[in-house]
Amino acid sequence: MNKNYDVVILGGGLAGLTLSLQLKKHKPDISILILERRETEAPLAAHKVGESTVELASHYLREVLDLKGYLEEHELPKHGLRFFFKSNTKEDISSRVELGPRFRLPVPSHQLDRGTLENYMAKLTVEKGSEYLLGAKVSNVELVNSPQSTDHSHKVSFIKNGKEETVSCRWVADASGRGSILKRKLQFQKPMEHHINTSWWRLKGVIDIDEWSNNKEWKNYLEPHLRYLSTVHFLDKGYWLWVIPLGTKNTSIGIVADPDIHPFETFNTYEKSVEWMRVNEPLAYKMLEPLGRGEGLMDFRILKHFAHHTQRIYSSERWAVTGESGAFLDPFYSPGSDFISLNNTWLSDLILRDIAGEDIALRAQVYEQAHLAWVDSFLPIYQEKYKLMGSAQIMVMKIFWDWAVYWAIPCVLFVNNAFTDLRLLRDLFASQNSLGRKFAELHKRMQDFFLEWLPYENRIFEHRYIDPFDLKLLREFQSAITVDIETKSLMEQIAINLNKLEQMAVAIFRLVSSEVKGTSPDIKVNPYTITLNGEVDTTSDKAIAPSPEITKDVEVMWFYEKKETIVDSQ
Ligand SMILES: Cc1cc2nc3c(=O)[nH]c(=O)nc-3n(C[C@H](O)[C@H](O)[C@H](O)COP(=O)(O)OP(=O)(O)OC[C@H]3O[C@@H](n4cnc5c(N)ncnc54)[C@H](O)[C@@H]3O)c2cc1C
Repeated sequence: MNKNYDVVILGGGLAGLTLSLQLKKHKPDISILILERRETEAPLAAHKVGESTVELASHYLREVLDLKGYLEEHELPKHGLRFFFKSNTKEDISSRVELGPRFRLPVPSHQLDRGTLENYMAKLTVEKGSEYLLGAKVSNVELVNSPQSTDHSHKVSFIKNGKEETVSCRWVADASGRGSILKRKLQFQKPMEHHINTSWWRLKGVIDIDEWSNNKEWKNYLEPHLRYLSTVHFLDKGYWLWVIPLGTKNTSIGIVADPDIHPFETFNTYEKSVEWMRVNEPLAYKMLEPLGRGEGLMDFRILKHFAHHTQRIYSSERWAVTGESGAFLDPFYSPGSDFISLNNTWLSDLILRDIAGEDIALRAQVYEQAHLAWVDSFLPIYQEKYKLMGSAQIMVMKIFWDWAVYWAIPCVLFVNNAFTDLRLLRDLFASQNSLGRKFAELHKRMQDFFLEWLPYENRIFEHRYIDPFDLKLLREFQSAITVDIETKSLMEQIAINLNKLEQMAVAIFRLVSSEVKGTSPDIKVNPYTITLNGEVDTTSDKAIAPSPEITKDVEVMWFYEKKETIVDSQ
């Protein structure tokens, strides 16, 4: 073993291993030491939670890290996210409003067995020349806080086989997950106002929810076994329950719930989780409880208040955090690995530029601000939104809105390498009127609007199938992720996408406001004034009407009768 490294990575989980592969891809001779406290290879299936990937992380794993071949051979293809909403008869899955893709998807994503994946990546990074030490628990980090410091001035100590060893390095990357070594040491924790709890467990065997009903019509909505490949969410007020298939032919199950509605004490042991399912999700209980008896139950874990924040991410003094050692929001849309993709892309760019002799002070500052702003602008997607989970109509609109936003802005920016383009970042975020800031404002306004809608919406809908790709706009946004856009056209594309989002926001608002406030379904609206609890700008030159195409798209999500146009006779 060496004594000096370019980079020492604290923790060899998803974030640490992917960072090492990204660095090695761009600089094969970079010296990397990964310290992982686990003594042995990761167990299969019952290893870590975080199995479902979405488009941004799939692009990162497949295209940026070149893991496409491995993923296609060893992990399951995923058939999108799928949601079943509250119904009067939860025992009958076919009666529930179901939202999910019907046909095979053009943009790939995967269900990961985290043990299989981490073992593979550990082997691969060693083949590429990284050193990966198992049974190495980091015991101390001494950072030399000066940008002028020499190449190997940080010191990292770890315990292996009962003995403490120390190595030096130019960069320390903290990927220790909830261990959060640097955050604890340097005290840069930050409160996160989102208090949600979870329990999860893995069951032996394949669970195909297609078999949970004999209703032929319901089964025939999709090709056989496509439902099985989705990340399935069962929702009602204050909670969602996940079912995720794993490539090792096992199944991951989890409860995620707001303690104001479902106290943690009601599901914080396996027995209580099963009882919780009996009360809240009786069909899941009936199908899953027998499989969890005896050997069938592979593990059981809980996590209280899983969301956490950070004040720091990247330092020009050559240290950084990545993955869960920084911030984590909420798993509802499986975004954990998306944040890792972005985090590692910023971090590897800083490390590589620094090693090449570039002054990274400005970049480190810009990336950190952008990263923290990104976390903050995504928080309202989840904050207080567990209250909405009992309403199919609000949730369908919200999920489609959140997907449109996700595909139209962050995915497009990520796949086109925009996040490391300083000029583009400046143009996107620097001025008050910049596209990035307008986007954040619109998104926040819509998230507030969904909450404002709640007191008016309590109808239970049943027997509906909603396919997001019946909406032309969503189809276009999602498939555009695979198209390369030249840097000079990227701002133009973001402007076009933001304009479509503004129209979508107005189309949603007009339907809801006409239903609950009796306003005309055809009014023009300034999207940046959307609210149900105050003045809405319908007259200034900023007020817009959505295109007939977007209006039609949004109506696909609307369960009520559309109100007739009000003709003003005066
Ligand atoms: C309920 C829930 C559901 C989730 N579902 C999803 C999902 O579906 N999709 C998704 O993308 N994300 C999901 N996530 C998030 C996902 O779990 C994380 O994004 C991901 O596991 C974080 O990876 P990481 O490498 O940062 O941390 P980890 O995977 O935890 O890795 C950290 C590593 O550091 C090691 N370590 C810790 N301390 C030390 C030390 N002192 N010395 C040496 N090694 C150390 C640990 O052993 C571990 O291997 C979910 C999270 C939660 C809470």
